[in-house]
Amino acid sequence: MNFTELKQAVIYAHKNSPLYQKVFDGIGTENLNSIEDFQNLPFSDKHTLREVYPLGLQAVPDEDVVRIHSSSGTTGNPVIIPYTKQDVEDWAEMFSWCYKTAGVHSSDRVQIMVGYGLWTAGAGFQRGCETLGATAVPTGPGNTEKQFQMMIDLKSTVICSTSSYALLIAEEAARRNVKDKLNLRIGIMGSERFGDLMRSRISSELGIEIFDIYGLTEIYGPGIAIDCSKHEGMHWRDDFMYFEIIDPVTGKNLPDGESGELVITTLKKQAAPLIRYRTHDITRIIPNKCSCGSPYPMIDRILGRTDDMIKVKGVNIYPGQIEDVLRDIDGATSEYQIHINHVQGKDVLTLIVESKSGYAGLAKTIIKVFKAKIGITIECECVPVGTLPRSEKKSKRVFDNRD
Ligand code: ZN
Repeated sequence: MNFTELKQAVIYAHKNSPLYQKVFDGIGTENLNSIEDFQNLPFSDKHTLREVYPLGLQAVPDEDVVRIHSSSGTTGNPVIIPYTKQDVEDWAEMFSWCYKTAGVHSSDRVQIMVGYGLWTAGAGFQRGCETLGATAVPTGPGNTEKQFQMMIDLKSTVICSTSSYALLIAEEAARRNVKDKLNLRIGIMGSERFGDLMRSRISSELGIEIFDIYGLTEIYGPGIAIDCSKHEGMHWRDDFMYFEIIDPVTGKNLPDGESGELVITTLKKQAAPLIRYRTHDITRIIPNKCSCGSPYPMIDRILGRTDDMIKVKGVNIYPGQIEDVLRDIDGATSEYQIHINHVQGKDVLTLIVESKSGYAGLAKTIIKVFKAKIGITIECECVPVGTLPRSEKKSKRVFDNRD
């Protein structure tokens, strides 16, 4: 990492963005000398951006802005992000690199099944595809009939969608018995968290290799990180962004390898530079290089949101971490519940796991692996498959019985 570049990004934001003139008021950003100084700068997040709605973070004159995107704010004002021509080109370059990293070539036909509009998905996938030189088939989401017609008649080779929409398409492909008519080979899925079962279902029904893509509207949009064919993590472009992982409770930086909240600083963004922006996404920086040989560093799949975090015996735990533990254990399934109780002055975490039959001693194994990977001792109870309640929506898995 080039510290001078990071410092320049901070000074640029301080000088040009009304938002950062407020955030850095009284801070001598010119005097930053080390990464430790940088790590003492205040964070910003969605709330900070909402406070300056609509364009209080714009750091360039209006005539330099060529596009506006917005996040879909479910509560309060949406966040409005302006882009200069260079910002749009930078994002397109990164996105085109994402496609390339996933093995997409100029001869591919890319069916883009994500939403077009104010949000960043459609525009990002489209521009990235065209920058690569592949053919975009911008069907947008929905209209399954049309999706199949285009996939079959145009012989689309790549689909881009959310994982839930991909699952719907996969199930529909099975129902229509059209697998032989499809020419798909790659699926690029937005990084909403989805289990391995769903992943392998989509992959086998559609005959595709799945790549996780990451991004958020505030930082360009999707297409800022993606996994490669080794699937060891998602590479990100450290020439465009600086990534940190912090403890979401204390705000302290965590060493590489430890899970926490992803915080992003943009290094080149002109219209809406962001410094130490809290994503509320939980992941970790993977400390080693990818076996693909790429010079770009990696983050892990997103483990969840900071809102889902539970703190037990002083350790932050995310449901995604528990899924990761169970995934690697023979006999365990992905169905589980966590019960936390306070007994005689101590936190006790009991993990109830549905297990396949014929795996005696599974609970012991889970306790051991949990301790090794997450760092705390738990109690574990294995129950037969089908015992825990199922829900159409997101199942409730965490029962915190402490006050
Ligand atoms: Zn790689």
